[in-house]
Amino acid sequence: MIQKIKQSVESRTSILIIYTGGTIGMKRDEATGALVPFDFSGIYDEFPALRRLPVGISVYTMPKLIDSSNAQPSDWCAIAEVIRDNYESYDGFVVLHGTDTMSYTASALSFMLENLAKPVVFTGSQIPIGVLRTDGRENLITAIEIAGAQVDGKPIVPEVSLLFHSRLCRGNRTRKSSAEELDAFRSPNYPPLAEVGVKIAYNHAAIASQSSTAEPLRIATMLSEGVAIIKMFPGIGEHTLRAILSVEGLRGVVLETYGAGNAPTAEWFLELMRETVERGVLVLNVTQCDNGSVEMQLYETGQRLRSAGVLSAFDMTTEAAITKLMYVLGKNLPLESSVELIQKPLRGEFTL
Ligand code: ASP
Repeated sequence: MIQKIKQSVESRTSILIIYTGGTIGMKRDEATGALVPFDFSGIYDEFPALRRLPVGISVYTMPKLIDSSNAQPSDWCAIAEVIRDNYESYDGFVVLHGTDTMSYTASALSFMLENLAKPVVFTGSQIPIGVLRTDGRENLITAIEIAGAQVDGKPIVPEVSLLFHSRLCRGNRTRKSSAEELDAFRSPNYPPLAEVGVKIAYNHAAIASQSSTAEPLRIATMLSEGVAIIKMFPGIGEHTLRAILSVEGLRGVVLETYGAGNAPTAEWFLELMRETVERGVLVLNVTQCDNGSVEMQLYETGQRLRSAGVLSAFDMTTEAAITKLMYVLGKNLPLESSVELIQKPLRGEFTL
């Protein structure tokens, strides 16, 4: 059920907060001292300063609140459905999510929400909202402000983004980089969409322009399960790799390689890659490095992979690559069309 919350200032825009679980929603129970889920319908009582934002707020709490380590593609679909069902009634959406898999959900949603023309801002926190030193309060307030921000009646950030600490980033460019710091997310290969300081400084050049087609929002909820991530390491055994790649139903693999997309030139390895690709499995090359891009033409080790039919993920994160594979393969298109979609940036997830 959606709870509309009363506020004192007249609102210019309205946003829907979708609360899915995670640390941000935790508050200490006075009686027991245990951390229990916070009731976001009491948001203005908890944070009276929110009343001063000219944004009308409603809250939808997912029926089952989860630690994001338990998130499954079915949870991504449930969030997409809430956005679709309420799309016309709100100017923007804030998704409160656990930090552990937030980059996977934000990446998945960026693909699943086709023709999105409104802000969907993910946020969470490292310290529960009910703890005095919480980072959740700032994250929540800033995310609400960004989701409701407009110029001339048009949303400033009409895409799936992730706000954490002092940066708003494109959702499918992010990854959780720290289990400790409050500045816990990075966007390794793409500039922030906004920097949050005294003011929120939007980087308009980096923000996706609002879709020019007036196509209605559509959600893609068919996601392929036949995908895997393989991280290369010196000494990875032929039997292990062969066993993973011969799993029944495998349709796509993210291969985490070294440096600019390099992998061993051992004949057994390249032959295995060739066989896998010839079976119609999409093998997508992502670098293990924290930043930079796959450039398979640079070294012989990369060139050999390319001639085996392995595709470049350019500067995509693993999170974006695996969710894009799920999305593209879920469409059940002919192989060449899937390859075409994989090699094309669909939501700004990589730079060519
Ligand atoms: N385990 C929690 C989650 O991802 C951590 C957090 O929210 O920060 O749901």
